[in-house]
Amino acid sequence: MSDDRRERALKLALAGLLHDVGKVKLRTGEPGASRTWDDEAKQDYGRLHALLTYDVAGNWLPPFADRDAVKNWAAQHHRPINREHYLVRLADRLSSGERDKLEKEDEVANQPKQLLSIFCVVHADNQNVPDPLYWPLRPLDLDENATADNWFPAKEWDKDNVQRRYKDLWEKLNKQALDLREAHAKGGDLETYLENLLYLMQRYTWSVPSAYYYSLPDISLYDHSRMTAALAAVLGDLALSDEELRALAQAPQDSNAPVALLVGGDLSGVQDFIYTITDRGATSALRGRSFYLQLLTEAAARYILRRLDLPITNLIYAGGGNFYLLARATDTEDLNRIRQDLSRILYNHHQGDLYLAVAGLPLKAWDFFAGRISSKWQELGELLQAVKNQRFSELPASDLARLFEPQGHGGNEEKQCSVCGREYDDVHQDKNNPEVRKCNACESFEEELGDPLRKARYLVWDFEPQLPTPPNEVTSSNTSSSWKAVLKNLGLHVHIEETLEGLHEPKGRRLILALDEKSLNTLKPTAQIAVGRRLLVNVTPLVTAEDKSKYGEEYRRRTGQSLKEGAVKPFELLSMQAKGIERLGVLRMDVDNLGQFFAQGLGEKATLSRVAALSFAISLYFEGWVGVLAQKRNRQKNDRGDLDRLYAIYSGGDDLFFVGAWDEVVELAREIRRDLTPYAAKHPGIHTSAGIVLIGGKYPLAQAAQDAGRAEEAAKRHKWWDNTDYPQEEEVKEKEEKKKEKDSICFLGRVLPWRRFGLEKSAEVSFETAYDALAFLEDLLEKQNASRSLIRTLLRLDERYQEAMQARRRAGRDLGADQRPQPLWGPWNWLFEYQLARMQKMYEKQSETKKSLEALRKQMKEAFHQRIEWVGLAARWAELRTRK
Ligand SMILES: [Zn+2]
Repeated sequence: MSDDRRERALKLALAGLLHDVGKVKLRTGEPGASRTWDDEAKQDYGRLHALLTYDVAGNWLPPFADRDAVKNWAAQHHRPINREHYLVRLADRLSSGERDKLEKEDEVANQPKQLLSIFCVVHADNQNVPDPLYWPLRPLDLDENATADNWFPAKEWDKDNVQRRYKDLWEKLNKQALDLREAHAKGGDLETYLENLLYLMQRYTWSVPSAYYYSLPDISLYDHSRMTAALAAVLGDLALSDEELRALAQAPQDSNAPVALLVGGDLSGVQDFIYTITDRGATSALRGRSFYLQLLTEAAARYILRRLDLPITNLIYAGGGNFYLLARATDTEDLNRIRQDLSRILYNHHQGDLYLAVAGLPLKAWDFFAGRISSKWQELGELLQAVKNQRFSELPASDLARLFEPQGHGGNEEKQCSVCGREYDDVHQDKNNPEVRKCNACESFEEELGDPLRKARYLVWDFEPQLPTPPNEVTSSNTSSSWKAVLKNLGLHVHIEETLEGLHEPKGRRLILALDEKSLNTLKPTAQIAVGRRLLVNVTPLVTAEDKSKYGEEYRRRTGQSLKEGAVKPFELLSMQAKGIERLGVLRMDVDNLGQFFAQGLGEKATLSRVAALSFAISLYFEGWVGVLAQKRNRQKNDRGDLDRLYAIYSGGDDLFFVGAWDEVVELAREIRRDLTPYAAKHPGIHTSAGIVLIGGKYPLAQAAQDAGRAEEAAKRHKWWDNTDYPQEEEVKEKEEKKKEKDSICFLGRVLPWRRFGLEKSAEVSFETAYDALAFLEDLLEKQNASRSLIRTLLRLDERYQEAMQARRRAGRDLGADQRPQPLWGPWNWLFEYQLARMQKMYEKQSETKKSLEALRKQMKEAFHQRIEWVGLAARWAELRTRK
C-alpha cells in the first residue's frame, strides 16, 4: 500500500512542480508552442503558458515517470477535467492563496517582469520599504566573485535586458532538464528525479516571478512551484468524491475541509550541546558540533517525510535547529508514532542532551486565504513550545520510568571525556595530546566532521533502501557513538568529501550537493544520483607554510605544540594574527524581531508561498551572502601579510556565530549589517543586533560564546532615540515613536545603535560615528605619531562620565519629568576643552593634525554628553588596535 501511496504523491508533486514552467518559455518572447494558439487550443488549455507547460513537461519528463499522465496533470490547471487536474488546480490556489480571479491573458507576455523583493511587501517595525526594488534575473550561482551590484535588489531593468535574461535562464534550465531526462532514459528512481528537478528549479527560477498581472510579482516561480508540489502531494488521497473535490477547487476560500497538516520541528538543548564543551577539544570541535545539528535537523525532517511517503518538495524549510513541512490532514496518528521513534533514537544516542519537539497543526482550506496562514504559523509555534515544556511526554510510562533512573556517574576520571565531561566506557587518550581523553562522539565531531569540512567540496547523502527498524524502548548507555551512528538510525549516511574519487557505489539513492560552483560543474546526474548546489557558509582558516615560518616558533614556545600546515588554524594563532592586542573575537548576530515578521509582517497578504519566499530570502542572506563577505575578507591580507583570519562556526537561518582575529571579526560584523539593508530592499525595519567579545587564547571558547550571546542580548535590550540621541523639546510628543529598539551592537562592553557605531568610513574627518572617530584616532597615532595622551585623556573622561551616569541612573535621576534622558554636566566638559587646547599647541607645526584636533574639540563642545558615547568607545578601540 505504502509503495502506491508514495508513487502517487511523487507524481502529483512532479505535476505541481511543473505546472507553471511554461511561463519561463513564454516570457522569452519565443513561445514556439506545439499547436497554433487558436480558439480550439484556448478551449483545451485556457492559457498559452499551460499549453507550453504541456509541451515542456512532455519534453523533459522521462517515460518512466509516467510522462503522458503527468504532463497532462501539470498542464490542465486552467481547464481541469479529471481528478488529478482538480488536485493540481486546488494545490495551485491554496499555494498562492488567491481567489479565483480570471488571470489576464498570460500576464501580457510581451512585458516580462522581474521578481519584486519579498521585503517590499513586509511590514516590519511599523515601517515599509521606500521604493519597490527587484531581484536581478539570474541563476542562483552565488560564489566568492559575487558583488552587491550583481545580486542585490535594484530598480527594474529595461524590457530588452529582461527578455534577454529570460532567454538565458530558459536555455540553461532547458538544457539541464534534458540532460536529466537522458540520465533517466532507461528508467530510474522517481524520488531522485524529482529532487534533482527541484534543485534545477531552485537554481534557474528563484528570481523568476510566478505571476505578475493581478498579483504582486513578489513570489518566485521556485517558491510557488515547490509549495504547489507539496500541496498536490498531500491532497492526493483526500477522501472526497469527484463532485466534492470540484466544489472545493472552485471556492477553497469558503471551505473548512481539512486539507493538510503543518508540521514543525524544533531541536532543543542546542545551546548547551554546542557551548558547554570545554576547550580541550580541537579548533574544529565547535564547528563539527554545530554542523552536526544542521545535519540532524534536516535528517529528522527527511526521516518524517520518508515515513509518511512524502517527497522532498514537502520540506518547507530546515535550518538553525528548526524545520517546517507539509503533511496530509490524515497523518496525525502516524506523526505521533514517528515522534515517539525519533525521541527514542535521539535519547539513545544523546541521553537527553538533545530533544526534538515535533508538532502538527491541521490546516483547513480557508486557512490558506486572507492572511490566515500567519496565525496558523504562530499557533504551531505555541504548540511546539508546549511540547518542549514537556520533553519526552510522548513516550510511554515504561520509557519515562527509565529516563528518570539515576545515572551511574561515579566521578571516575579515567572514564570522563575531557571535552563534554560525560563518563563513558569508551573514553580514550587523544592521539595528539595524551593529557586529553575523549569519548567516541566528541572525537567524531572533530575528526569526522569539523576537520573534513575545512576542505569539503561535496556533501553526499546516501539513503538506505529501507529505513531501519526504530528502537522499541529507550536505553541508557555506557558507551558513546559517532554522529554517523545517529544518522544511520534515520536511514542516512552522510559523507563530507573533498573529491568524489573512491566513493563506493551507493546501495540506494544518493544526493550529491556541491558546496561551490566549480564543484557543481563536475557533477552529472544519473538514474540513482541527484545533484545540486548547496549554499553553505564554509569559511575555515588554514595554517599555511608562511604561517609556520612566521609564527611557528613562537607558537611552540607558548603551547608546546607545532603548527600543522593545512590544519584548521588554532585559536592561539588566530589571536596572534590580530592587529594590536592579541585577542580572539567572538561574534554572534541575528535578525531582530524575526518571529514578528512571520506572524504579522505579511498581514493579509500572507500565503503559504509568500511565507516560504520570506524564509528563503532571509536564509539566502545568512547561508549565502555572509559566506561571500567572509570569504572575501579572508582573501585580503592584513598589514602584516596574514590571510584567513575568520572562522565560520555557523551561519544560516537568521543567525550566525564567527570567531577570528578580533579586529577582523569587528569588520565582518560591520559589513554584514551594512549589506543587510540594500539586500533587504532598503527596508528600514529589517535589521540585526550583534554581540562581540574579546578573549585571550586560554579562555574557554564555549564560555566566550555564551558571553557573546549575552552581549547580543544586551544590544537587543538597549533603547535609543532615533534622530538625535536626546530629543529636542518639540519632539517630546513624538518621542514614543522616535524611541527605537535593537539594531545595535554591543562591543567592548558598550551598546551603540549601528548608525552610531558606523557602517561606512566617511571621506572626511568626522566624529559622528565610532568607526569614523576610530579612523581619526588611529591615523593620529600611527601616521602622525601623536602621543597616546589624547587616547588616555578620552578614556579617563569617558570613564568618569560613565560612572557619573550610572550613579545617577541607580538613583533614578537620569530621566526628566517628561521621561526624557537628561544631559549630564560635569568637570569632563571643561577638562576635555583644556586638554585639547594644550594638545593643539603641541601640534602647532602640523597643520593637518591641528585642524583635526580643532574639529574634535568643537564637536565635543557642542554635545559632549552625546558624542562621548561613541568617541569613548573609539578611544578604547584605537587603544587596543595600536597596542604593541
Ligand atoms: Zn565527549
